[in-house]
Amino acid sequence: MHEGGIAQSIVEILAEVKEQNELSCITSVTLKVGKMSGVMIYALEFALEAIKCEEEFIKNTKFNIISVDVKAKCSLCGREYQFADTDEMNLLCPDCQMPLSIINGKELEIVDVEGK
Ligand SMILES: [Zn+2]
Repeated sequence: MHEGGIAQSIVEILAEVKEQNELSCITSVTLKVGKMSGVMIYALEFALEAIKCEEEFIKNTKFNIISVDVKAKCSLCGREYQFADTDEMNLLCPDCQMPLSIINGKELEIVDVEGK
């Protein structure tokens, strides 16, 4: 369970954004979480909701978490495949039987921050 630590780092980044932009509070934050990032979205939401109460500037922040599907590309034929469910993921190209390389799905990033 490392989502608590991730939530803590997100709050630290938000504190910096707040300082740099001279905001009094953060109103909304959009995060992108890849399905192969190893982060459980519900656990991250839970951790963020818990941490919100501890910091005045994020007390009313709305966290939007976007789940990013895994996208992989065949190293031989270049075809791209998308996987909504990582349990059913096939890491070999169905045509060439070559290993696929992951393009999307490992990210954990803050894509938007709004404040006032
Ligand atoms: Zn292929």
